[in-house]
Amino acid sequence: MNTSLHKGLSFARRMYVPRTVGLSIGFFTVAAALYPLQPPGWVWAALVLHGYAWSHLAYLLAKRSKKPYAAERRNLIYDSLLGGFWAGAMGLNPLPAVTTLSMMAMNNIAAGGPRLFLVGCIAQLTGALLGVSLLTPALFPAVTQLQVYACLPMLVIYPLAIGLVCYRVALQLSQSKKTLEKLSTTDSLTGLMNHGAWKDLLAVEFNNCQTLNRQNSVALIDIDHFKTINDTYGHIIGDNVLKQLSGVLSAGLRETDLAGRYGGDEFCVILPDTTLTQATDILERLRRTVHEHTHSALPDLRLSLSIGIAPYASHLTDAGMWLHEADMALYDAKSTGRNRVTSAKPGVRACEALSPELE
Ligand code: GH3
Ligand code: MG
Repeated sequence: MNTSLHKGLSFARRMYVPRTVGLSIGFFTVAAALYPLQPPGWVWAALVLHGYAWSHLAYLLAKRSKKPYAAERRNLIYDSLLGGFWAGAMGLNPLPAVTTLSMMAMNNIAAGGPRLFLVGCIAQLTGALLGVSLLTPALFPAVTQLQVYACLPMLVIYPLAIGLVCYRVALQLSQSKKTLEKLSTTDSLTGLMNHGAWKDLLAVEFNNCQTLNRQNSVALIDIDHFKTINDTYGHIIGDNVLKQLSGVLSAGLRETDLAGRYGGDEFCVILPDTTLTQATDILERLRRTVHEHTHSALPDLRLSLSIGIAPYASHLTDAGMWLHEADMALYDAKSTGRNRVTSAKPGVRACEALSPELE
């Protein structure tokens, strides 16, 4: 189902219950106002149909329409036109007319904002003129006690129905917002944190190290010769390798460790409260696990990882520099034979990388 169709149908469904509730209790509000005016039989028949059949017909019309959203908006305008008609038919009896019209206006502004409210007002005015000119009632009659009581259910129950609908929409919105937030920070292939989210956390952890004197380490992990794996086994197997490795990372690291996919075949981890020695042990264990793992379906497929670790140190001026040191350590791991864990050599490598001509 396409999204605009789905949106339209859920809009129609959302309107169905408050319309059914509003019209079935609104019947009494209007009937109490019409009764003293002794309108002809067709007016009563129309009122019964409007009160108890229209909401079902309106829902059916929207459901069957190719454009349910537009059909439902049309239904809301018909609601206003008919509401206006009853207000005119009762001679604009102040209390029942205002009750009917204001409840519909509230519905319109809640469903379609100021624009639908305005169009609804015009429809109400047109309906009222039609009601007055067709039935020529005495205008602005005095309100009876019965009419006051007949308005009470509408004044109490209908706002509750609209409030409930608004609450449900707000709940759905907050759930959608949470889902979107999760999607925007998650790597869709592996389910790990994506590059942006991980770098945000890196900045936070860097700050924690500086201000709270914490000893964190950062590791960059890259699959060796991943291009060959893709070329040999195909990209789907390549994707599965990335997914499996992310599973190994999640399972093999501690709950407090923050793992992400840096991009391509490169992963990144922040290890809070972890010295270089501890981080090396953890990642060496991970490297060995991955290297020793064999795939029964693909016995020739062996993975190896190159890993660069940089512990936080006081000479680091920002999170970028910290990451750069981990990157340089990873570069060392690659250039000294791959399938190994290498730690950062503070200062030296960074200077070399920034000024290659000095080498
Ligand atoms: P090295 O040992 O130097 O790291 O060699 P490598 O082949 O792993 O290095 P390189 O970074 O050149 O290759 C990474 C490859 O990862 C290139 C790219 O086609 C592949 N790749 C990146 N993202 C994905 C992905 O989402 N799925 C798959 N299957 N492959 C990907
Ligand atoms: Mg690689």
